[in-house]
Amino acid sequence: MAGNSVNGEEPNSVDAGLAAAFDSGGFRRTAEQCALRLRRYLDDPGIRGLDLVEPAVLMKAARELMTAERENVAGYDEGRFGQIMDLYLNTGIQVHSPGYMGRQFSGVVPLAGLVDLVSSVANQPSSFYEAGQLPNVAERLMAEELNRFIGWDPERFAMVTTSGGSMANLTALLAARNRAFPGIWARGVAEEGGRPAVAISEEAHYSVSRAAGVLGIGEEQIVRLPVDRRGRIRAEGVAPVLDAAERRGLRVFCLVASSGTTSMGAFDPLDELAALTRSRGIWLHVDGAHGASLLLSERHRDRLRGIAEVDSLTWDAHKMLFVPAPCTLLFYRDGDAARGAFRQRASYVFDEEPDVYSAFDSGDKNLECTKRPMIMPLWTLWSVYGPALFTRKIDHLCAMTVHAHRMLAAEPDFTVLHEPEANILCFRHDPGGLGREALHGFQLAIRNRLRADGRFFISKVDIDGVAALRVVLMNHRIGAEHLAQLINEIRTTGRRVLCEDTARDDRKNGSQR
Ligand SMILES: *Cc1c(COP(=O)(O)O)cnc(C)c1O
Repeated sequence: MAGNSVNGEEPNSVDAGLAAAFDSGGFRRTAEQCALRLRRYLDDPGIRGLDLVEPAVLMKAARELMTAERENVAGYDEGRFGQIMDLYLNTGIQVHSPGYMGRQFSGVVPLAGLVDLVSSVANQPSSFYEAGQLPNVAERLMAEELNRFIGWDPERFAMVTTSGGSMANLTALLAARNRAFPGIWARGVAEEGGRPAVAISEEAHYSVSRAAGVLGIGEEQIVRLPVDRRGRIRAEGVAPVLDAAERRGLRVFCLVASSGTTSMGAFDPLDELAALTRSRGIWLHVDGAHGASLLLSERHRDRLRGIAEVDSLTWDAHKMLFVPAPCTLLFYRDGDAARGAFRQRASYVFDEEPDVYSAFDSGDKNLECTKRPMIMPLWTLWSVYGPALFTRKIDHLCAMTVHAHRMLAAEPDFTVLHEPEANILCFRHDPGGLGREALHGFQLAIRNRLRADGRFFISKVDIDGVAALRVVLMNHRIGAEHLAQLINEIRTTGRRVLCEDTARDDRKNGSQR
């Protein structure tokens, strides 16, 4: 077999097709093409949500773009690449359009995308200093910058990046559990000193109970804390629940509060919870995946009053710091606790005696081994534009959400379900005459119809067992005129839904006669 070195022959010269795929001139031309496409995408003046395509249809379209060449490296085909990029851009939620009001990930600052491009080409994974020197330094610098807004002892705190808020919540719970049960890493879960349990609010994100499940904490060991009408933990209701858990033989080692619940964006009272957990030796973790960014805003940071007293904090930069997903920062007040999450030896990566280089590794504090240098877009934006880029946008989004609340409250056929605490707002369209069940189905039908129409993308959430419409304002281009259009479109859609329901009922009744 030619080209095979099994017999001790030298390999032949590098395959021409292989070499072409790595050619830098070709890369430059393609990058320019790509930048032009993205410019058109960013400049699109249309109001677009999502062009939802049936999976089978998209599978077919995508399959047709795959080369049939299998023997040799196929030559670069500009048309094929262009079509793949178009399909990618067109089938996404249009996060840069004012029609996008539905989810918590952002339309990113475009420069962040260029940093990610460099990360992808230069490929410097960041769990170990030697593999990603600047990313590891940038993590320290960003940690220092952001800790100024948290207010912990700069000599003691620690921060690691994780691939998403769910992973950060899992890692923090692990560190909390290992502090409370020092023998558990060696001997596994035993029933010494009570069964490990966590206390979370009814409104906690599903990743928290999922993390508990991963740690071997059963549903019965998840203690649910009562919330008020706006979805905030009722601090005065916590002690009795913890006492009752203790009587059941549970040992609550961690209480998870939310700074910005996912459904309504409600902020739990951290100061009161910190006083309670401290007196009982319970770790207080704050899931600030969505709302921790409000710390940067003079106007809104008070929502996290008491943050300096908590033990750990999950903070998603891919939500309200407008960088590509994922980029999550997990902060610990006490850096030693961070190392408590994982107690392992692995000679191929961990050094026995840390030197000045490996002291910058984060591999001993995060679950990932190979990890994206996700800090780079955030740190670069911070370095180039400064913090005001973020605070201006956060303040604008929160102000616009208050405005949305005012507009909806003035419409007699809309019910707003809470005062906004951040940039999330839940409401229902209620033209009257609908019972509880019908009202629920009506909201879902409106949401799905709106999504199918492709102009506005909003989400839905159940509140007190009845579906509600939910907007998350992540785009500073959204103005009052877009909100007015959304209200109109919901109304028109609602009328269509009701007409069709009536027509269907008539048909049904007609056929019975
Ligand atoms: C979004 C969110 C999460 C999950 O974070 P991911 O980054 O999506 O994994 C967890 N908690 C809250 C409160 C959230 O809003």
